[in-house]
Amino acid sequence: MIKHLTSTFLMLAFLYSATAFGQASLSISANHLHTDVAYLASDQLQGRGAGTKSERKAAKYLAREFKKAGLAPMGTNGSYFHQFEFKKPSDPHGNVAANAPTLKSRNVAAYLDNGAPYTIVIGAHYDHLGLGHDHNSRDVNPVGKVHNGADDNASGTAGVLELARYFANNGIKEQHNFLFLCFSGEELGLIGSKKYTESPTIDLTKVSFMLNMDMIGRLNDEKRMVVGGVGTSPTFVPLLNGMETGLTIKQDSAGIGPSDHTSFYLKNIPVLFFFTGQHEDYHKPSDDVEKVNFDGQKEILEFAVQLIGKLDQEPKLTFQETKAKKEDTPRFKVTLGIMPDYTWDGDGLHVDGVIEDRPASRAGLQQGDIIVRIGDLEIHDIRDYMKALSMFEKGNTTKVKVMRKGAAQEMEVTF
Ligand SMILES: [Zn+2]
Repeated sequence: MIKHLTSTFLMLAFLYSATAFGQASLSISANHLHTDVAYLASDQLQGRGAGTKSERKAAKYLAREFKKAGLAPMGTNGSYFHQFEFKKPSDPHGNVAANAPTLKSRNVAAYLDNGAPYTIVIGAHYDHLGLGHDHNSRDVNPVGKVHNGADDNASGTAGVLELARYFANNGIKEQHNFLFLCFSGEELGLIGSKKYTESPTIDLTKVSFMLNMDMIGRLNDEKRMVVGGVGTSPTFVPLLNGMETGLTIKQDSAGIGPSDHTSFYLKNIPVLFFFTGQHEDYHKPSDDVEKVNFDGQKEILEFAVQLIGKLDQEPKLTFQETKAKKEDTPRFKVTLGIMPDYTWDGDGLHVDGVIEDRPASRAGLQQGDIIVRIGDLEIHDIRDYMKALSMFEKGNTTKVKVMRKGAAQEMEVTF
């Protein structure tokens, strides 16, 4: 993986001998993933809050790794950093207080120039919740605790680095250029990716598609992974259906989702989104490196290599809008205080976790419950659930019907 120190001759000799022994010339390394996640999610990096010193430290590490892989800087002013300024929102809806200070932050951008007309973008956010001062920690007493964010999203960031190393050094000249992007400010509302698409360093009309990885470190025993965005180009579904993989892929059509691919979708770029699902440590200080499944992550990235290889053979992908447009996304005034299981594809909404001291927990909902009705609305999937929530105001009381171990139960929830 040290292209700049390896002569072409040595590289060819290596490829030849590797082929002679029937091995892949270069592979995804679980060790690299472990090293990257362990560093990014260490206490030393203080949870990588956007606009902080520790975020800058993380960005420097990413730039160094891109450089080592032999990739060119593609940030602003010839650096790897795409700098931007922002103000911290004071609530989860993105409202900014009038007196909020302006902070400096940076995305990290690296380029593999294959002299091709079109480019593939591979991205992930590298920021996390820092020391829990903002509104989105799920810890009861978050302030001052390091939110390490190993799964969210050191895992996806390590994925971008490892794919960068792979494509820069695999000895194959792909038919597309590659832009590798690590975003900041995601946790505060997709700020970094939005800033990038507003002032990009490459021509976005030349991007074939964007792959985003956010939380790919918790592949479970069933090997379930959500691939989002499959409706954003007619090419995706038939291709995915035809692929052989040990992963259990759950396809989701929407271009709008809870992470940075949304910013690219809104610029009419086809997107894909990899995600291994929610868990108990989500947005808590306990999202630690020990809990990351590195063999699983390696398998996911091998799948990514295979998928990108196939998409590389295609002409520039055609963009297609998906159903849930931004304007249609319901706005909620209330929350139930549960974590939906995004990987669930049975009927109803599977509850992955219940947050303490919120309406659902007060009403007696439990992890593992399947919500099948809220008020008058039957719940078949997450969209029904969101629609139902949008119909209530704070203080309203309604009945929630769940299936628990096969038996129906009804509870009264007050928002
Ligand atoms: Zn997050």
